[in-house]
Amino acid sequence: MQVIKSISELRSMIKKWKKDALTVGLVPTMGYLHEGHKSLIERAVNENDRVVVSDFVNPTQFAPNEDFESYPRDIKADAALCEKVGADVLFNPEAEEMYDNALTTVSVAKITETLCGRTRPTHFAGVCTVVSKLFNIVTPDRAYFGQKDAQQLCVIRKMVKDLNFDIEIVGCPIVREADGLAKSSRNIYLDTREREAALCLSRALKMGRDMVENGEESAAAVIETVEREIQKEPLARIDYVEAVSFDNLRPLVKIQKPLLCAVAVYIGKTRLIDNFIIE
Ligand code: AMP
Repeated sequence: MQVIKSISELRSMIKKWKKDALTVGLVPTMGYLHEGHKSLIERAVNENDRVVVSDFVNPTQFAPNEDFESYPRDIKADAALCEKVGADVLFNPEAEEMYDNALTTVSVAKITETLCGRTRPTHFAGVCTVVSKLFNIVTPDRAYFGQKDAQQLCVIRKMVKDLNFDIEIVGCPIVREADGLAKSSRNIYLDTREREAALCLSRALKMGRDMVENGEESAAAVIETVEREIQKEPLARIDYVEAVSFDNLRPLVKIQKPLLCAVAVYIGKTRLIDNFIIE
């Protein structure tokens, strides 16, 4: 397993792989890898001859008031995990290497303006730009994204279709802690009381899912139950609770598949997201 920081070095390695007709999988991450990332890397290792994990805290997807500076970083631990799981390259460029006076951005309209896009209006353009760049640098056969960031997965799928990237996008299930909290690099921000409070997201979503599985047809009823459960937690402040179609992200009135029921909740200062999807 090699840690590579330069785009040209990575490109020449990939050229050699392609000459040997090897397939390449890409797992884009912001590092501080946990079991959620590990599940994506494992899947990529199983399905491709070579795997590149990118580890880049992308400044352009953070707004000035967000946690770019404090976002946790541990490249040594990340490299050890990648080595163990069987990835071939950990691509860890500096921001200057990725953005050399760049003036070009990639943005997807409409589906980036709902859900997280409402409180984070510049976020998805940052994501789409960096993911496009990674796609052009790595030219993978497949790229792996978690359903934890369901809107991101939806936006990337649309971008790939619209811009004709010849890449299969593989969505992977959410990995959770034993008590239900979705794994996230940001969970490190939670103190003991907040960690306990954060369980309200998965607990509320479980109630919503049960309702849908028991035949509830009203999206408003599902949303209300999820909201009410989260509101019982004094440390929680809801950003949004929504039930949308998992292809165009339009709000649903009647529950229909594919359903994405997604929440964003502040626990203290930490903004957490979670969801369930029924396809
Ligand atoms: P991040 O480093 O947070 O940008 O995440 C990198 C990738 O890992 C994204 O595709 C995420 O959706 C995915 N991911 C993060 N947390 C989880 C999780 N708990 N389960 C599954 N995938 C995850």
